[in-house]
Amino acid sequence: MEGCEKMFVSKAVNINEKNHLEIGGCDCLDLVNTYGTPLYVMDEALFRENCRRYKNAIEKYYDGKGLVVYASKALCTTAICKIIEQEGLGLDVVSGGELYTAITAGFPMERVYFHGNNKTYEELMLAIENNVGRIVIDNKEELVMVHEIAYKSGKKVNVSFRVKPGIDTNTHEFISTGQIDSKFGMAIENGEAFEIISKALKLSNLNVMSLHCHIGSQLFDLELFKLAAKVMLEFVAELKEKLNIEIGELNLGGGFGVKYTKEDEEIDYDSFIGAVSEVVKGVCSQKGIKVPKIVIEPGRSIAAPAGITLYRVGSVKEIKNVRKYVAVDGGMTDNPRYAMYQAKYDAVIVDRPDAPRTEKVTIAGKCCESGDILIKDIMLPEVKSGDVLAVFTTGAYNYSMSSNYNRIPRPPIVLVKDAKARIIVKREDYGDVIRNDIIPEDL
Ligand SMILES: *Cc1c(COP(=O)(O)O)cnc(C)c1O
Repeated sequence: MEGCEKMFVSKAVNINEKNHLEIGGCDCLDLVNTYGTPLYVMDEALFRENCRRYKNAIEKYYDGKGLVVYASKALCTTAICKIIEQEGLGLDVVSGGELYTAITAGFPMERVYFHGNNKTYEELMLAIENNVGRIVIDNKEELVMVHEIAYKSGKKVNVSFRVKPGIDTNTHEFISTGQIDSKFGMAIENGEAFEIISKALKLSNLNVMSLHCHIGSQLFDLELFKLAAKVMLEFVAELKEKLNIEIGELNLGGGFGVKYTKEDEEIDYDSFIGAVSEVVKGVCSQKGIKVPKIVIEPGRSIAAPAGITLYRVGSVKEIKNVRKYVAVDGGMTDNPRYAMYQAKYDAVIVDRPDAPRTEKVTIAGKCCESGDILIKDIMLPEVKSGDVLAVFTTGAYNYSMSSNYNRIPRPPIVLVKDAKARIIVKREDYGDVIRNDIIPEDL
C-alpha cells in the first residue's frame, strides 16, 4: 500500500473479507463472542516488531553495543516479560510488584533496572536478594538503604543515579519529569547529583556504574532528546575531571511519542536514535571521554500501538443541540487516561470500520463519574446500542493503570497472532473484587 494513506491510525488492525475489523488475523467480533467485553487485545507480532525496531537502531548507531530496556510500567504481565526476554531487551521495573512479576516470569535479573522515586526497604531487599542488574538511586535516603542492605548481605550492588538534566518539556505537566521542579532524581544545576555520586564512591559495597535521565513521556521534539544527551554527557565529563571516575553507561530514558490520532505526528524512531547518537559521539570526542554504553527505555511506543480495546455499546443518549453520549461497558476503570490527562484516542465500529464518519459523539464509560469519558467529540458512523467499538492504541498505560473503581472487575488481555488468540490475563470476576474484604467477627 506504498503511497496511499493508511486507513487506520492503528497499525495493528486491518479489514477482513467480511468487512470487519481484524487484529492478528482474528475477527474482532469473534473475539468478543468468545471472550466478552470489555476486552484488551494485544497484537503479538507488532509488539515484537516494536521491540526489534529499537534494538536494531541501537545496534546500528552504537556499533553493536547499547541496550534497549522496556519500561514495563506501560504494560507488565508475566507473558509480556517473557516476550521481552525473548526479544533480548532489558526490563525497567518501578515497584516490588513489577519486580515480582519479572521474577515470576523467570526474567534474567542482570537485565533488570529498578527505578522509582521512593523505593521501600522491602522492595530494595527483594531487588538485592535477586541480584537485579541496576538499582537506579533516586535520593540520599535510598543511597543509605541500598548500602546498608548490600553491606549486610555481603554483596556488591551495581547502582545508577537518576539525574535531572534541567529540561522543561512541553508535554502534559503530569508526564514531564526532567525539570528541576520534579519529584524524580537529583539535579545537576544545584550540585545535588554531584554530591550524592561523590558520597556513593566512598561506599565499598556499591559499584557506581551508570547515570540515568528520563525527561518525560509522549514527546515529539527531537531537540529535547538531543539536549538531554548533551547535558548528561557533559556531566559525565565533569565527573571524570573532578572525581576521576569513568561512567561506563548512560541511560537516556524513554518518552518517545506515539500517534494516537490522525492529528498526532509520527516519529521516525530510527532517525531520532541516529540523531541522538551523533550528539553523543560529538560531545564525547569534544570532551575527550569514551562513548559510554547507551541505554534507552521506551515503554509507551512499544506497547501502545500494539493494543486495542473492544467495548459493547449500551445506551445512546442524544441531548438535542448539546451532545450525543454513547456509553460503553468499560471506561475510566480500564482506561483512565482521558480522566487523568485529557488524552485523545481514535476508534471505529468493528462491523463497519470504513463507513463514513457522519456524526459527532462522545464515548462515555459506565462509572458514576462525569469525568468518566473515553473519547470526547469523535466523528463516527451512526452508533447503535449493541455495536462493538474498538478503541485504538490502548496497549500502554491502560491495563497497567486500571482499577476496580465502582467494584468493576478488570477486563482480560488476549494476545493475538496468526489468527490465534491466547489469554495472558484472566477476566476478573466478582470473587476477585471482594477477595481481600473481611467482615470482623465482632462487627
Ligand atoms: C515511564 C518511564 C519510561 C518510559 O516512558 P515512555 O513514555 O512510556 O516511553 C522510561 N524510563 C523511566 C525511568 C520511566 O519512568
